[in-house]
Amino acid sequence: MTTTEQTGDTIAYRTCPLCEAGCGLEITLAPPGGDRTVARIRGDRDDVFSKGFICPKGSTLGHLHDDPDRLRKPVVKRDGHFVEVEWDEAFAAIEHGLLPLLERHGRDSCAIYLGNPSAHSLGPLLYNRTLITALGTRNRFSASTVDQRPKELSAAMMFGSVTVPVPDLDRTDFLVMLGANPYASNGSLCTAPDFPGRLERIQARGGTVVCIDPRRSETADRADQHIAIRPGTDAHLLAAVANTLLTDGLARPGRLAEHAAGLDDLGAALRAYTPDAVAPVCGVDAETIRRLAHDLAAAPTAAVYGRIGTCTQEFGTLASWLVDVVNLLSGNLDRVGGAMFTTGAAGQPSTKGRPGSGRGVRFGRVVSRVGHRPEGFGEFPVTALPEEIETPGEGQVKALVTVGGNPVSSNPNTGRLDAALASLDFMVSVDPYVNETTRHADVILPPPSPLQKSHYDLALLNFGVRNVANYSPEVLPLDEGQPSEWEIMLRLSAVVSGDGVDADITEIDDAAARSLAASAVRDEFGSVHDRDVDELVDAVGDRVGPERLLDIMLRTGPFGDGFGSDPDGLTLDRLEANPHGIDLGPLQPDRIPDLLRTPSGKIEAFPDQMRADIERLAASLDRDWDDSMVLVGRRHVRSNNSWMHNVRVLTKGRNRCTLQVHPDDADRLELAEGSPAVVRSRVGEVTIDVEITDVVRPGVVSIPHGFGQNMPGVQLRVAQEYRGVNTNVLTDEQFFDPVSGNIALNGVPVTVAPSPAG
Ligand code: SF4
Repeated sequence: MTTTEQTGDTIAYRTCPLCEAGCGLEITLAPPGGDRTVARIRGDRDDVFSKGFICPKGSTLGHLHDDPDRLRKPVVKRDGHFVEVEWDEAFAAIEHGLLPLLERHGRDSCAIYLGNPSAHSLGPLLYNRTLITALGTRNRFSASTVDQRPKELSAAMMFGSVTVPVPDLDRTDFLVMLGANPYASNGSLCTAPDFPGRLERIQARGGTVVCIDPRRSETADRADQHIAIRPGTDAHLLAAVANTLLTDGLARPGRLAEHAAGLDDLGAALRAYTPDAVAPVCGVDAETIRRLAHDLAAAPTAAVYGRIGTCTQEFGTLASWLVDVVNLLSGNLDRVGGAMFTTGAAGQPSTKGRPGSGRGVRFGRVVSRVGHRPEGFGEFPVTALPEEIETPGEGQVKALVTVGGNPVSSNPNTGRLDAALASLDFMVSVDPYVNETTRHADVILPPPSPLQKSHYDLALLNFGVRNVANYSPEVLPLDEGQPSEWEIMLRLSAVVSGDGVDADITEIDDAAARSLAASAVRDEFGSVHDRDVDELVDAVGDRVGPERLLDIMLRTGPFGDGFGSDPDGLTLDRLEANPHGIDLGPLQPDRIPDLLRTPSGKIEAFPDQMRADIERLAASLDRDWDDSMVLVGRRHVRSNNSWMHNVRVLTKGRNRCTLQVHPDDADRLELAEGSPAVVRSRVGEVTIDVEITDVVRPGVVSIPHGFGQNMPGVQLRVAQEYRGVNTNVLTDEQFFDPVSGNIALNGVPVTVAPSPAG
């Protein structure tokens, strides 16, 4: 932190942890000395990646810190009410409530759910594994099967690890986006602060931006071309684009042809997907699809980027796979201006082990107890959680630990999950709020506010459109007696493992550090192969907790100092000396074959799972796609799932939680602007204000997610005032992508009618 001479104010630099963009923030703390508070937050103009960009959410970290509803101390439920207690008492309550249950019913009787905030905070990122191991349960769930598992899975199938190609936004000439609205979300699985500015610079340098989305979103509105596709049919359209590239002689995988397996089989498998055949399915005319393929092939460089809309649908894995098939066939994979691979400074699987091949990733080794849903990356799909709680028998889930996240808000069929959580015998949440989910907890352990935590975007910098490393120390001190988040994670781990409330967590942390160093030492292709583990751990010095683990990861990573072998390499000390981050350069081409970790040493261009699932896509060609009205989601730049709705400066203004309906549908259904409508699905119904607009295509209605936080017991005073509904009352846990288990939040069949109360 620096002190300005004129005012005496302190300036701190911090990466914003709220979304995947990871913008640099300049935070002014005042008054000098003593109890400092946040006086101002603005974009850090010297940040090597974001260069001063900030969205409305980033400037509200001070509001989050000061939010009177944010828990400062643990709470324990007594007689149906939360009572604030000291930390020792909270951990004792967990030991008292959970351990007898585990002894009686076995370890699988306690499930764990890792929410989206876990991926934005160093403590959970580095110690979730410790907690999972301590719990010893097979019933592991996370938000990944809500929004991104299809892309993780397709990347793992094709490249052997979760190494997701990202569009080279700063150099591409032609960008095609499906199911993405970066003007609202600032990007996802593609870390790019000021994503909108990067899109505008594509256009400014003469390039083209195409947006494929059922809604004319903020991004589609500014694109050079908007293709208003029918929800859930991205895989059909991409299959037709790939087929056109093949049949019109436009496919040019170039040097990657010799590194790809299965390319020769694609032509026959995709033959049925002509632009004419998929046009009525996608609701897009055949000529538009044909022209898209030709434009992609003709562009000097091009990249196809599919995001949340392509994952949250019934053909999510097929769509995610086909995005990269098109990148491969059009000659744009792993080249400058195309779809490229980030070299993350820490934690990227494709920079470890033997270059060019590996064990790959296996899925479906076990299935869930009730619905026989296959695991992926050691987790079951979240859609399986309610039935695992509801269904009696050996292995029934009777307790739950949540770390971040708000599944009652974000998971499908809110009514069912909410009732299931209410039936649990015991629940623990690591969370700063009493929200729709944590109101069911018996004990809530609140982590410090984001400004009281250090930060390194360990997960998200591995999807950057530049290679960047950026570490921020905590901006504000912990309160007296308040543990840091990693200490909470380790104390909880000790309690659930049976080591007791007084267990020495430094021993657990030491073991984690030694285990990490040992893994690096075992890597015969790494920079510290065969070095002494203790020597490496000692070399980190006095650091403990996340900083020690992060330093080991950075120093043994692709840019690291190798604990002395490259004195100019990256260390945490160097990052601390560079508060605006370190730019490690543009993404590099020709990473294939070295980055591959498939057993074959090839890009699996047509993986077995896709060969099997394409039959399902073929069968859907004959479906009556005009049969029903369907629901899609949306997002606003002032919102972020359910996280930010208790910040008044973000929620003020017009009601954003409306039902968007096309004028033709409004006429047909006799819906009036601003009047309430009842939306029904197989699993529930909501009453919501109508917004008549042609931004949605006919047959499609849209409701944003994360609202409707006025359930009994929720302690979010600002969010509860908001006139919104929870769209997941309508989404259906039985509507999902069977390959990944990812829920289909888009394309949910619904009926809409004027509310009788209106
Ligand atoms: S775009 Fe994301 S990371 Fe950047 S300021 Fe906004 S919320 Fe924070």
